[in-house]
Amino acid sequence: MPYLYALLALVLVVILVVAIRTYIFTKSAAQPPLPLESSLPDPQLDPLVPAQHLSAAIQIETVSHEDPAQDDPEKFDALHRLLEDAYPRLHTQLTREVFDGGSLLYTWRGRDLSLEPVLFMAHQDVVPADEFTLDKWTYPPFSGAIEEGFIWGRGSLDIKCQLIAIMEAVENLLAAGFTPERTVYISSAHDEEVLGLGAPRIVALLKERGVRLQAVIDEGTAILDGVLPGFTGYTAAIAVTEKGYLSLKLTTESGGGHSSTPAPETSIGIISRAIDRLQSNPFPHNLKVTEPMFRAFSPAASTLMKVAFANLWLFGGLVRGRLAASPETAASLHTTTAPTIFHSGIKENVLPSLAEAVVNFRILPGETVAGVIERVRSVINDERVKITPIHTSQWEPSPVSPSDCPAYRHITTVVQELYPGTTCAPNIMLGATDSRHYHAISDRVYRFTPILSRKLDLERIHGINERISLENMHNMVLFFHRLIQRWSSQKM
Ligand SMILES: [Zn+2]
Repeated sequence: MPYLYALLALVLVVILVVAIRTYIFTKSAAQPPLPLESSLPDPQLDPLVPAQHLSAAIQIETVSHEDPAQDDPEKFDALHRLLEDAYPRLHTQLTREVFDGGSLLYTWRGRDLSLEPVLFMAHQDVVPADEFTLDKWTYPPFSGAIEEGFIWGRGSLDIKCQLIAIMEAVENLLAAGFTPERTVYISSAHDEEVLGLGAPRIVALLKERGVRLQAVIDEGTAILDGVLPGFTGYTAAIAVTEKGYLSLKLTTESGGGHSSTPAPETSIGIISRAIDRLQSNPFPHNLKVTEPMFRAFSPAASTLMKVAFANLWLFGGLVRGRLAASPETAASLHTTTAPTIFHSGIKENVLPSLAEAVVNFRILPGETVAGVIERVRSVINDERVKITPIHTSQWEPSPVSPSDCPAYRHITTVVQELYPGTTCAPNIMLGATDSRHYHAISDRVYRFTPILSRKLDLERIHGINERISLENMHNMVLFFHRLIQRWSSQKM
């Protein structure tokens, strides 16, 4: 009997701890909006104007290639001419520098040069449209068709929309006689999609000039409607960090010979086993990194999720299982392993003397390139497999930018003004963006694209029928119209 009482007491204590932790966890999530004393009213904008500018930009095929010799510089010149025509005030009152290949840096001098400038960015290049899917597009990928309430084509979501929205906002601010307190930069690389040199060149130049930036915003995560499992309403994830990147080549050489007298394992078998070991031993999940995101998102979570997130000590396994089940959230939990290339063999009756594979890793903040290589070596545990990093493409995860500073809170305030009721949270950018280079000259680098997206919209990025609604495009202009005023203010 005394055991039963003890057990009952223990259960009650656990329930009490769970309840208190849930209360504290949910309470700590709320961040009040940040006021701005004076701001200009939103421009009275015909939504067709930014739509037509975006449509014209989409029609110029600024596709970037792994081999820059294949790029067409005339296309980037044409896009620059289009921007000049569409934004005459911007092009007379801001200074523009053009870099090799077509990257751009605009400078809008602020009133107080002792204040650290801010920078808005969006790349000009796009990925090609796969020729085998052309017949699946409702409107051709470079038509820029304005139909059914959408602007259609490559770059409409990634990310000419952001470039056009920033420029549209600046043009309207100039028309209203606005002068920023801080200097405002706009940077736009021509080769982001091929991990090119445009952005690093701009950063190197700013560094050489001794520029230190108060804050940077680049393309990134969006406002999601019903994408995250277990959450209701709109959720805006603002990426405060970005995963690292590493590709490893696995090679093995063996004697070759005739396939009638094979050794117990051929080169193909050895590399296949190495890959299998990597896939059967994924990198461990780390809920620590995503904890701030789920804390901030907790007001939008179901009661069960709230309780679980506040009590990872008890429900960690359950939460991990739930998040790992969805590809949208699984990749934020750990360093991912993706075998992407496999080469071997020349003839069906010849033993391959060489087999090689490439495995791509996206590294979770908190881990390192060296740590990943070490783990891969120990998991494969086979001296016959040579492991070599592909040095041209590897970098560490980005530092984490703060989510309790004015720069971040101005973003969330504007999101909540334009999309009332949205829950905002800091999160991890899973893909790579040019913004990673800017950590060299700023402690506050954010990746956010103020577009309201549903699950199917996300699949259109780099895919078929990429499109943005006129309403999203219009709101994006308003977002930057407000954010530029806030970020360039003295108190930022
Ligand atoms: Zn992009």
